[in-house]
Amino acid sequence: MPDILSVKEYAKVIVDIAYDKLDRPFSYRVPDYLKQIVSIGTCVKVPFGKGNTLRQGYIIDFTDDPGFDKSKIKDITEVVLSNLPIESRYIELAGWMRNRYGATMISALKTVIPAHKKSKRLVHKYVSLKIPQREVSEYLIECQVKKRVAQRRLLEELILRKGERIPYELVTHKLNISASALRSLKEKCIIEITEEEYYRNPVNIDVQNTDKLNLSDEQQYVVRQVFEEYSNGNFKPVLLHGITGSGKTEVYIRLIEENIKRGKQAIVLIPEIALTLQTLMRFYKNFGDRVSVVNSSLSKGEKEDQFERARNGEIDVIIGPRSALFTPFQKIGLIIIDEEHELSYKSEQTPKYHAREVAIKLAMLQDEPAIVVLGSATPSIDSYYNAQTGKYQLMKLTRRLTGGKLPEVECADLREELRSGNRSVFSRRLQELIENRLEKKEQIILFINRRGLAGFVSCRSCGYVFKCPHCDVSLSEHRGGKLVCHYCGYSEDVRRICPECGSKYVSAFRAGTEQIVKEVNKMWPKARVLRMDADTTRTKGSYEKILSSFANEEADILVGTQMIVKGHDFPNVTLVGVLAADMSLYANDYRASERTFQLLTQAAGRAGRGTKEGNVVIQTYQVEHYAIRCACRQDYESFYEKEIEYRKLLNYPPVSHMMAVQISSTDETKGISFANRIRAIIETNQMLRKKAEVAKNEIIIGPTTASISKINDIFRFVIYVKHEDYGILTEDRYKIEEFIDNLTKSGQYRGFFVQFDFDPVQGF
Ligand code: ADP
Ligand code: ZN
Ligand code: ZN
Repeated sequence: MPDILSVKEYAKVIVDIAYDKLDRPFSYRVPDYLKQIVSIGTCVKVPFGKGNTLRQGYIIDFTDDPGFDKSKIKDITEVVLSNLPIESRYIELAGWMRNRYGATMISALKTVIPAHKKSKRLVHKYVSLKIPQREVSEYLIECQVKKRVAQRRLLEELILRKGERIPYELVTHKLNISASALRSLKEKCIIEITEEEYYRNPVNIDVQNTDKLNLSDEQQYVVRQVFEEYSNGNFKPVLLHGITGSGKTEVYIRLIEENIKRGKQAIVLIPEIALTLQTLMRFYKNFGDRVSVVNSSLSKGEKEDQFERARNGEIDVIIGPRSALFTPFQKIGLIIIDEEHELSYKSEQTPKYHAREVAIKLAMLQDEPAIVVLGSATPSIDSYYNAQTGKYQLMKLTRRLTGGKLPEVECADLREELRSGNRSVFSRRLQELIENRLEKKEQIILFINRRGLAGFVSCRSCGYVFKCPHCDVSLSEHRGGKLVCHYCGYSEDVRRICPECGSKYVSAFRAGTEQIVKEVNKMWPKARVLRMDADTTRTKGSYEKILSSFANEEADILVGTQMIVKGHDFPNVTLVGVLAADMSLYANDYRASERTFQLLTQAAGRAGRGTKEGNVVIQTYQVEHYAIRCACRQDYESFYEKEIEYRKLLNYPPVSHMMAVQISSTDETKGISFANRIRAIIETNQMLRKKAEVAKNEIIIGPTTASISKINDIFRFVIYVKHEDYGILTEDRYKIEEFIDNLTKSGQYRGFFVQFDFDPVQGF
């Protein structure tokens, strides 16, 4: 493997580490006596500016060609070896990410180093009731009459919290209460907003109010086990496989407590969509002001503030999506990744990193390794495989603690339904259960698997599908007679005549959420229905609004796409219907079965969260498919066994590794020939390798047109390379990068764009 770090003649150094200066590093010579000790991330002192004043900087890269007159280049003066500063660690991490995922050092650095600025006066704000709770009800009625939905939601939450204050950021983000709604309540003296400067580190009333749950035996065992293994020198990541409601979050909280006692900080990753107010409040109750949240609705400044607090040692815990990994803590002792199977942990921007891998690396970069805990009810095949092969430690939680039993899951065979004359989208069993729940005033979730495929319009006579003229995807029919492209926003009027054969039998594929709502209205006109999908949640806060309105039992039935199946607790939901379970099996992606199994299991987990018993009906055309069968039996292990066989057979991750070389081009013909040149480079490399060592099977597929062959008139091609040794793929990548570098230097790299994606989770 070409060791790019072996060239250490010149170092690129950034002085004053700041986001906007990353693009302009300075070159320094590395004196011979330092060559052995410097590496990417090393903190150094360098002479700077005209007066050659000594400044501290960080090495971000090495080169043998500084790009200008070598005689004018100054030497690095010394290496600062005292306590590893946070910056060094993150620069080293960026270097690692560049090597693993293929990216420039700059883009890797920009991913890990938050823009940071001087801190201003920082305050915590809280919202609390100013009047006694019993007086609120009067105002609640007024809110209802005047349709002040947001105000009502806040007041209800405050009552629920029995006089506890709620952190301001939760009110504005999670509860989605606007500033004007808050102002109006404040002016009426119903609520008050208090500020606390948090350098004073206030006594925290919230913390003292907590009634501690007694951990179950299983939970206790896991907590003890994690630390015991660690003290025995077992630093392997822990995979915590716990069914929904088995108390994983409570385990996390205890782990964090112990971690804080040891003087260390913790990072908790939770996919944004699964991070509910309930969960957040549990963390706030336990850690009060020592916990902070970052999410995408925070402004850049707010996010930086949280990072600043971490840097200054004012918080011990941060909760957020994958970018929270880059919180500049001094001593990370614990990194938790909840719902570790979630696709959102993989970045879709270069460097296309996986949070799981970065977390494990980051843990090892600490002075003392940090503990990594990956939690899920349906672990990714990748992680389970790592547990099976001894790279991770597997721990389990097998019992629900909510009192509720796991729901009863049954499959409905849609072919059977059709044969017996049922043409409705609902199987007879599901209809029966829906009626039963409507009668009992219990709630129902109807879940449609995948939005992308639904709603496309085709000719039933010749099969013609309406597609976007700029992107290779089908258009979806929307209300108002428009056909819309979900990739570029292109839209056109619906045509009722097939442009191909002139037939009048043109219609939308009837399985969208809108269609289901219509069907429900037709069959059960009295039922109150809410719809949740990408269309109804486009505006800020609408997502939370729909959820809280359903939680408040303002509707009987919630119809939605996969966004409704994540982590929410609706105690009154006792029936979940999965309408098109197999839709996601048709995705042309080797993870299709895995995703289907996960979605179905998560969807099933939404029923019977309270004390009442739950039912789940999974409607499918493929009753025999193992993903569906195992989901119906809620049997993860059997699913894993089947799935890993398939991956072995076809050399897919995690058994093999896979590199996708994604090529975009403005010109179709040039794109193909460029892609073919890249294939030739990989082949040459393969030949050289075969001569040098025993041939190991490296599989090259393509170039083929990508699954979306063009977007916005840019043509897309892809080459897949599979090998069980990640290093081999990295070698190939270096060769391709070298080729592109040479083209760039000679000005021929125009109109092309190449990206790498290792062990991809999304198609291209
Ligand atoms: P998970 O994260 O695995 O879905 P949670 O930690 O959210 O599970 O726990 C599910 C429910 O069980 C929550 O309502 C929680 O308050 C409750 N719970 C967790 N641990 C205990 C315990 N030791 N005793 C009683 N209830 C518990
Ligand atoms: Zn036609
Ligand atoms: Zn388009």
